Amino acid sequence: MTSTPDPAAPSDLGPADPEHDPSASYALDQQMVRELTKRIVSTSGEAAATYTPLTGQALAMIPQSSDADVDQAFARAREAARAWSLTSIEHRQRLLLRLHDLVMQHQAEIMDVIIWETGKARKHAYDEPLHIALTARYYGQRTKKIMGTHKAIGAVPGLTQVEINHVPKGVVGIIAPWNYPFSLALCDGIAAIAAGNAVVIKPDSQTVLTALIGARLLEEAGFPKDLWQTVAGAGSKIGPEMISRADYICFTGSTATGKIIAKGCADRLIGCSLELGGKNPILILRDADINRAVEGAVRATFSNAGQLCVSTERMYVADAIYDRFKEKFVAAVKAMTLRPGLDWGNDMGTLTGPSQLEAVTKHVEDAKAKGATVLAGGRARPDLGPYFYEPTILEGVNPEMKCFGEETFGPVISLYRFTDEADAIARANQGEYGLNGSIYSRDTKRARAMAKRIKCGTVNVNEAFAATFASIDAPMGGMRESGQGRRQGAEGLLRYTETQAVAVQRLLRFGPSFGLNDKKFAGVMTANLKLLKKIGRP
Ligand code: NAD
Repeated sequence: MTSTPDPAAPSDLGPADPEHDPSASYALDQQMVRELTKRIVSTSGEAAATYTPLTGQALAMIPQSSDADVDQAFARAREAARAWSLTSIEHRQRLLLRLHDLVMQHQAEIMDVIIWETGKARKHAYDEPLHIALTARYYGQRTKKIMGTHKAIGAVPGLTQVEINHVPKGVVGIIAPWNYPFSLALCDGIAAIAAGNAVVIKPDSQTVLTALIGARLLEEAGFPKDLWQTVAGAGSKIGPEMISRADYICFTGSTATGKIIAKGCADRLIGCSLELGGKNPILILRDADINRAVEGAVRATFSNAGQLCVSTERMYVADAIYDRFKEKFVAAVKAMTLRPGLDWGNDMGTLTGPSQLEAVTKHVEDAKAKGATVLAGGRARPDLGPYFYEPTILEGVNPEMKCFGEETFGPVISLYRFTDEADAIARANQGEYGLNGSIYSRDTKRARAMAKRIKCGTVNVNEAFAATFASIDAPMGGMRESGQGRRQGAEGLLRYTETQAVAVQRLLRFGPSFGLNDKKFAGVMTANLKLLKKIGRP
């Protein structure tokens, strides 16, 4: 289906434009591209070219959606949602478990397209189908338990019977980024359809094909075709059109865009979840298993070349072990392989585009110019591909430098020494973000206690980020400027529902009855209240 990239491709010539260059060759099978892109709601006749960051070679022409197309996508989704909301939860769960099997079956194809679109190493691409299989299995088994009607305590014991229902919101708009294009296109959407909603999704312009494989697998699993609509185009154009029609918006991306989305949703009084940026800290305590911490720190920092929302950019290491840790960490990073390719066996791939390369270069050059020391990496590698950058460790970073507090979203980590654990926690909590933290210590009791003091939505102990990420029963998201709302677990499902209370009142009315006048009724009620408190009833 795919051809192997030519590592000797002339990356410095810049990307070919297939529309204007008749000799341009595509890296992907165009039959497959046509089959996938027919799912985009697009009548505009416009298309935008995409390129692989592996080589700069052309990938596909992606049909673009007009405002009218977005309208059409929502109309179809709304119609589909009506019928879908009436299906049994058992039926939805069965389809989700089928999706699980299909994702496992098509792993290789999914990983290939992810790599063509993002340039990440295959082991990092593997995390995506894995995450979606886990999510499909979780909601395929747990939706009924989470969403099923449950009882609440009634006002009058025995006589007021209360049930709580979770009613689907209708049509959920999903706006997804490019960094984990399969995972982040599907994980939130699976929960939305499990809860009885339809979805209109706008993937990032660079990674539409990967998202469309997800759409195709949903169809193959048996979900109604119109339940999942894909629109394509610039976020600043399509985003507001989606916000003006959706019943709920699920956004993953930068904090800056998240704030624009939140304002749009506030104007319509619709809910939104915002999964945003981070400047994630890792704490290596003096009793840490150093080898384990080194392995975790490499993964925490360089998965997908650091273009991972929960990846680590700040490392605080206990003074007592700093030198030993640093020596081993630097050696491990210098030993990493960096190259383009679809095959296994590589440690890190490329940055995903020119703006990422520019941002990473700017942070490192700024730090170097202001006195930071480069312990490993610190330079672009145009000999490998247009956007390759070496895994980089910095020491001596201070608040004057951009990479001290700003999210780099690249393969760059700053090392800091600490002597006092309270000080390490205070430094980990600096800044406005609060997405993910990790702590390495042999004393897990102490680490758990420290975790409670770290202002992050997830904290991993003796793991980089995967322990919380892969525990689908656990909610995941950011505090402070890292977001609002949670994906995964019960919260990840219930955000797509309205909670409804239904109370059935028997015999006794909430007003004078049995011949009582207002005063006597009030007296009986007061006596009852005192009694209920005395017997400890809530
Ligand atoms: P981005 O905000 O530029 O784009 C994300 C999506 O929003 C894209 O689909 C884009 O087209 C769309 N968009 C852009 N402008 C829009 C607008 N005005 N209205 C509506 N939609 C708009 O983010 P990015 O640079 O593509 O992604 C990287 C950022 O995402 C990083 O900050 C990273 O930390 C964050 N991220 C967070 C998580 C998480 O779960 N917390 C996961 C992945 C990425």
